[in-house]
Amino acid sequence: MDERIVILGAGHAGGSAAIALRDLGFSGEISLIGEETDAPYERPTLSKAFLSGADPEPVWLANDARWRDLNVQLTLGVSGIAIDRESRSVTLSNGSSAPYDRLILATGGRVRRLDTPDHPRIHHLRTTDDARALAKAAKPGARAVIVGGGVIGLETASTLVDLGLTAMVLEAGDRLLGRNIPGEAAGWLASAHARIGVDVRLGRSVRAIEHRANDLKIQLDGGETLEADLMVVGIGIIPCAELAEASGLPTAGGVLVDSSYRSLGDERVFAIGDLAARTWGDEPNPRRMETWAHAQTSARAAALAILGLPAEPEPAPWFWTAQCGHMLQIVGDPGAGDTVIARGDGVRLYVRDDVLVGAVCLDQPRDFGTAKRLIGKALVADRASDPATDLRKAAA
Ligand code: ADP
Repeated sequence: MDERIVILGAGHAGGSAAIALRDLGFSGEISLIGEETDAPYERPTLSKAFLSGADPEPVWLANDARWRDLNVQLTLGVSGIAIDRESRSVTLSNGSSAPYDRLILATGGRVRRLDTPDHPRIHHLRTTDDARALAKAAKPGARAVIVGGGVIGLETASTLVDLGLTAMVLEAGDRLLGRNIPGEAAGWLASAHARIGVDVRLGRSVRAIEHRANDLKIQLDGGETLEADLMVVGIGIIPCAELAEASGLPTAGGVLVDSSYRSLGDERVFAIGDLAARTWGDEPNPRRMETWAHAQTSARAAALAILGLPAEPEPAPWFWTAQCGHMLQIVGDPGAGDTVIARGDGVRLYVRDDVLVGAVCLDQPRDFGTAKRLIGKALVADRASDPATDLRKAAA
């Protein structure tokens, strides 16, 4: 097969697709084009060890030599500006164009911003450049106000406290981590933040920000005002689906794909990672999955489909967050459960009709590994609830 494959977006998903294509034996041309100037890297450390300086480098997918060995043509600092599906080519911001036989869209998302003007003291956290800028501003003793009590906001708050800053988290909702973590486990992390001195305020949103000579004055809805040396806004991402949409591909909060990540509108185009919207299990509505694991599994699934190889069994979706010295791991869809089995302090198993549909583990990596394998299997509740019994023995 000596087709030419263009991958637009050189993040974790795009980079993984290039590697997967070569691993699976593709010998044609691979062109990996990305807007960021860094080579593909994994994002999870940006709010943790890379931000704190514990890891001086991001986690690269491959070093320069390996990209050369893989014979992947990397074009960095260049973005796609239009897709012409008829002539099968992508117009690039550097004036050139990239013809393709297959196109993999891996453009991910951009950070959502507040409705207030930008300012150097207001940070976001999506890219290595964002993390470098925040690290530079994060001086011990500085007062940080973090907007958004999701994974990014809370991991950042935890890291900033480690660096000697004070941190306040403003969450608009009535609980933390409402998008993807069950309430009980979110409560575990709320307690962990209270212990390290993070001031978490629920039901708060920003009305206006005044840029003063030496700090920011933040006015909240409801009248309260705060002062801060820096702000971090972590209120989610918006998928970069505009190019796909403008080219006529079907989108719905992301680029619509089937379970092999092929666009519903063009068999030559795939979309992977944070950008892809698809249905999961028996859920009726397509949705995106913004996880590290999904960047990899979607890249591999697309590569298999492009090469005409059979699909691999899909692992249950999973992700983790590390904050305040704790590791919280989530697998499956806890929200789909009708019963919760408590297994000691740190493990909750969510079952529906006795079948494990989701699990949450706090600092219990061994049980987490087992739970991942038991998703979709029936459990015997009294064995599963006993932390002294090996979880593997809880399968019915
Ligand atoms: P991320 O991956 O950036 O952490 P999430 O969607 O997981 O994104 O979490 C973002 C959090 O920010 C959610 O808990 C959401 O309720 C909260 N949020 C969204 N908009 C605002 C806002 N304007 N002010 C405060 N919190 C917000």
